[in-house]
Amino acid sequence: MTDPLFREDAYARDCTATVTAINDRGGVVLDRTVFYPTGGGQPGDRGVLEWEGGETPIITAVKGEAPGEIVHVPAEGAALPPVGARVTARLDWDTRYRHMRVHTGLHLLSVVVPLPVTGGSISADKGRLDFDMPEAPADKEALEAELNALVAGDHAVGTEWITDAELAANPDLVKTMSVKPPMGQGRVRLVRIGTGEGTVDLQPCGGTHVRATGEIGRVRLGKIEKKGRQNRRVSMLID
Ligand SMILES: [Zn+2]
Repeated sequence: MTDPLFREDAYARDCTATVTAINDRGGVVLDRTVFYPTGGGQPGDRGVLEWEGGETPIITAVKGEAPGEIVHVPAEGAALPPVGARVTARLDWDTRYRHMRVHTGLHLLSVVVPLPVTGGSISADKGRLDFDMPEAPADKEALEAELNALVAGDHAVGTEWITDAELAANPDLVKTMSVKPPMGQGRVRLVRIGTGEGTVDLQPCGGTHVRATGEIGRVRLGKIEKKGRQNRRVSMLID
């Protein structure tokens, strides 16, 4: 089990950790990490592992086979730290921070397009959501303006936890049909944008987010593409 430090503090750029295993494909497992593993449409983090006498570039992080395990994938042919070594795990912060801005922006996109989400994906400069949207939106500029008003509102982004049973009793919280909320550990993390009566968005999410929507910066809507009979793909770009 790897302690996922990014879940409590998405702004932690590095941490010290101990190598607990090297898996059969050369992936490095740590006891704790700031590296987000690929999941929920958000790419795994890149960065570097440094230890006394060596360092290795990490090209991505993924979930391991054991529950809760996070595997750091080194560049091909890179040196590996020995099991038991103390390492510093350091993120490619510029890329991760852009993922956080895009990811939080997609939450806002799901607010201005209040339709079921069937898929999504995030990169460093843009993101997209697929919606169950039989008709194209009439006014893309109006949607973009609404989105930027939510950004400019600088709403706080916070997390809270509910039990699996509470989530099961409130199925309306789940907007994304394609990504099952991470249930089974007894509790589920909710991400709330805004506070109290001013809540803008509330949904289960395990990803990394900025602290306030103002950090997303101005966004632009890209293409709205038809994907199959019922679905439309909406792209959103950050500066
Ligand atoms: Zn999220």
